[in-house]
Amino acid sequence: MDYYDQDTIIFLNGAFVKATEASGNLYSQTLHYGNGVFEGIRSYETADGARILKASEHFERLIFSAGVMGLEVGFSVEEMIEISYRLLEKNNLKDAYIRPLVVADPMMGLGPAPHAFLVMMAWKWGRLLGDKLVKLSVSSWRRPHPKSCVVEAKVSGHYVNSILASTEARKKGYDDAVMLDTEGFVAECSGANIFMEKDHILYTPALGNILPGITRLTVMNLAREMQIPVVEKQITLDELKSADSMFITGTAAEVTGVASLDGHTFPMEWDFTFGYSLARKYRLLALHADAQPTTVI
Ligand code: PMP
Repeated sequence: MDYYDQDTIIFLNGAFVKATEASGNLYSQTLHYGNGVFEGIRSYETADGARILKASEHFERLIFSAGVMGLEVGFSVEEMIEISYRLLEKNNLKDAYIRPLVVADPMMGLGPAPHAFLVMMAWKWGRLLGDKLVKLSVSSWRRPHPKSCVVEAKVSGHYVNSILASTEARKKGYDDAVMLDTEGFVAECSGANIFMEKDHILYTPALGNILPGITRLTVMNLAREMQIPVVEKQITLDELKSADSMFITGTAAEVTGVASLDGHTFPMEWDFTFGYSLARKYRLLALHADAQPTTVI
């Protein structure tokens, strides 16, 4: 996929520049050791123009992640929201994926780089795993232990684990992987959180070994509004495999239904599941309610 063309504008180190003219430093600590932090954000074309969903939450998490890794973002939440809307405008984008990345300066030592800068890109991106129900497999790769890294932070280096899991699943003919934590409980997919429905109750893995997804929280709140009981707990693989239905959530994946796990098809017809209703509610929220007003620049 082409993420940019001759006309694409990105935000780099305080200025809007052409993507084709932007350059980076090959000695960056981000490139060598994965010490960068990023976000994945979506804007939607609404009746009032482009609206970024949960913008504050995403930029707050970016600042949190940077703090964990000792990197300076250099911009406030409000400033980054403003930059995002200008970026969309400059690229004539409405339905778009926005990628802020905090890139560390050259640093071959293992202390945090003394300086970092913000890059922001945007492109058109369909749902991460497409629009149909997905087929998942259980990965042989486990999520990193919370004593090995800060799993709540969205750090570039953490994603080598996701790449291993996703690659393994795709090689076997699946769309993505369910990863377990180091104790063997269900954790998350390579880039999305997990929900299961059983006997009219919604379950999702408790925090501790997963990225606390912004979509996960949004969906839990929507479920509560719809009087759907939601339980956060440690979930075993047997429990997941005996679920009535399953779905995954993420900014890029939105709410995606799961057809099967390791070839076992979930018994409930998708259109009758909580996941289906929540996918519709989420879409409505993105297109109407939760929009941030465009900041006047
Ligand atoms: N888990 C992982 C590992 C992810 O990369 C993502 C995507 N950011 C999620 C969960 C879902 O998070 P969010 O809903 O905030 O996009």
